[in-house]
Amino acid sequence: MDTTQTMGALDDGAGVRLAPEAVRQSRPEIVSWNVTQRCNLRCSHCYLDAGQRAPAELSTQESFRLIDQLVLAGTQMLILSGGEPLLRHDLVPLAAYAASRGLLVVLGTNGTALTPSNIGQLRAAGVAGAGISLDSTCAAQHDRFRGVPGAWEGAIRGLRACVAQELPVLLQMTVLPWNYQEVAGMVALASREGATGFTLYFLVCTGRGEQLSDITPQQYEEALAVLVEAQPRYPQMMVRARCTPQISRVAAVRGSSLVGNAGCLAARQYCRITPEGDVTPCPYLPLVAGSVREQPFESIWQRAPLLQRLRQEAPAGRCGRCDFQESCGGCRARAFALAGDLAGEDPWCTYQPPGQRPEQGAGQTPAARAPRPVWAAEADQRLQRIPPFIRARVKVAVEQQAAAKGEAEITGAVMTAALESLGRRIPFPRPRATSATAGAGSPGSGEPAPELTAARQP
Ligand code: SF4
Ligand code: SF4
Repeated sequence: MDTTQTMGALDDGAGVRLAPEAVRQSRPEIVSWNVTQRCNLRCSHCYLDAGQRAPAELSTQESFRLIDQLVLAGTQMLILSGGEPLLRHDLVPLAAYAASRGLLVVLGTNGTALTPSNIGQLRAAGVAGAGISLDSTCAAQHDRFRGVPGAWEGAIRGLRACVAQELPVLLQMTVLPWNYQEVAGMVALASREGATGFTLYFLVCTGRGEQLSDITPQQYEEALAVLVEAQPRYPQMMVRARCTPQISRVAAVRGSSLVGNAGCLAARQYCRITPEGDVTPCPYLPLVAGSVREQPFESIWQRAPLLQRLRQEAPAGRCGRCDFQESCGGCRARAFALAGDLAGEDPWCTYQPPGQRPEQGAGQTPAARAPRPVWAAEADQRLQRIPPFIRARVKVAVEQQAAAKGEAEITGAVMTAALESLGRRIPFPRPRATSATAGAGSPGSGEPAPELTAARQP
């Protein structure tokens, strides 16, 4: 798929279905930045078609300016990924600068280039954690998929080095036809190895992944059910899925304690920046909203017609009349990739909603149907101190717990009780201040949010 494709002005005239007001108020809280296209692996599904450095990657000075622009726009969490980000020579200075400007900085890596030495540098720079990709309990299967012998051993070595140096680490698995029955085994492996979280990624067919056959919608449902059932068995880890907003429906109908899913965040709280500085709604949507070389990031985020459309237009088809629309809404990239319609229904969902959009809460569990508790000011302030990438999910989970106990108001005490049961599943607390990050102002002062520190006590 052509990742340079751009989108022109969009007709937002008659017939456009508008999403709720809350959806239209948006900030780019989480930004995923592919800092380089260089990579030492040849993964079959790579959406960047990574390998060699791209000819026009942002320079170090352009990258510093970009970080300043992200801070101005209200970004709170920066994911440095690639390609393989550890192959970028100025990764540590960029991470240190972003952390010093108050961003929560995490790394997305294949793990093979992690060493005790560079993990120490990343920690000193203020990096809060790393997500390492691993797709199988079988080394040979993983190596075949990742295109390089020894990739599995390298990822495990990197994971263990992070754990040894107390850098929080997530194990990230991409689910495919050949490994979808390994989900339970991979969650167990993540727990055994000391990961703070396990994330299951669902493929959207773009980049090199365009040639792969996806798992079927029924297999999606099976994999999600396994994930939902795994969470209570591993209370010390956060178990979650990415790019399958349907997890909230699967969790709700099973009355699961899985931390709630806030649906697709693309263009609402999240976007991706390519190595050359193009802004896209997410890594799997090959539509460019603008270039940070041509206009400030905040201007792209606020004004790009593509991003405005994703915020404002409610989905059509089954997603448009679905009782889980608010917590799910379907994957926009999948709707675009498979049917060419950004606002279409997610064709990879098996759910058949009622004929018309029902009353809010119909079809959900009793706890989900209960009136939503209100947030007392003190509890709301504490909620705002939770890292943004997990805040919406924590909010939903706390509200579900409060509603299940018949609490009409979420006070500080209710919040504390809920966080105690969730606390060990918060994967990336802010790191403590280091010489590189000291001096930055709140909220990115390098101090862990007090409620998360408390909640992580055994
Ligand atoms: S559009 Fe799909 S792939 Fe992109 S962020 Fe949303 S759920 Fe994930
Ligand atoms: S029909 Fe759409 S909104 Fe409803 S659960 Fe499926 S993907 Fe989500």
